[in-house]
Amino acid sequence: MVRLRLAPTPSGFLHRGNALNFVLTWWHARSLKGELFLRIDDHDTTRTRDEYLEDIFWTIEWLGLDIDQGPQDVDDFKSHFSQTHKFSYYKEELLKVKETALFGCLCSRKDVKENGGEHPRECRDKMRTFDLDDFEDEEKEMSLRMSTENIKVPDASYVDCVLWRKENIPSYQLVNLVEDRDMEITHLVRGMDLSPSSQFQQEVSHLWQWDFPSKIYHHSLLTDHGEKLSKTQKSPALREEFNKKEDFYLEVVSPYIGHKVKGTHDLLQIEAPFFTIKEKTERL
Ligand SMILES: [Zn+2]
Repeated sequence: MVRLRLAPTPSGFLHRGNALNFVLTWWHARSLKGELFLRIDDHDTTRTRDEYLEDIFWTIEWLGLDIDQGPQDVDDFKSHFSQTHKFSYYKEELLKVKETALFGCLCSRKDVKENGGEHPRECRDKMRTFDLDDFEDEEKEMSLRMSTENIKVPDASYVDCVLWRKENIPSYQLVNLVEDRDMEITHLVRGMDLSPSSQFQQEVSHLWQWDFPSKIYHHSLLTDHGEKLSKTQKSPALREEFNKKEDFYLEVVSPYIGHKVKGTHDLLQIEAPFFTIKEKTERL
């Protein structure tokens, strides 16, 4: 069974680039007669806000995308799907891979920055033992890392990747690996900016002998005045742009799936050939 997922994070208002990713993922799922899941990655409690959650549901509805499994609305999400209910489960999963060189780290962000963005080797060499209760202790400020000595890393920022953060929350990499495995996701459609993450997750899943999607596509990113769109760069929110311009949707998807979109809700009738997407994506 082919399975894909939309996996937005509620850490900002979605922009055109997110919409493009949603459409391409949906398109793959429908073209391959697969199942499409909505998974909202809200494990980073330091960034999640209710209005961002609402924006995700608004965007999916506005794009006219049908979803096979996942939350129906914000209340349903909070009651039944939020990853914040699963923190002890993520910890248990970490314990199962404890033998793959996990260690406690007391480095500050400054320590890492001063080492050129790479986790200092001296800290890894100590292979500090840890107890999961250590992360409950706010005074300790300990994070949990995995030695990457024996695996390939895409760049310095992935050296000794953090799996559990000192704020006592799971890292993005850990949640992605657990969730994609548990949901039995077979295909990933991601922006090119996540290509290093995909490479890294492939390596780690291999090491842990966890299932990982077998097909991975990366699409090019939309830009605004030469800058890639990103929530952290405060790119214009999709909703805001839509309010200003009714035919906005045409501009979002037309470079990727042809020029046959007539309006915001005609997406389901588009007869764009599947190869158009393939041409614009890069197989890992
Ligand atoms: Zn360290």
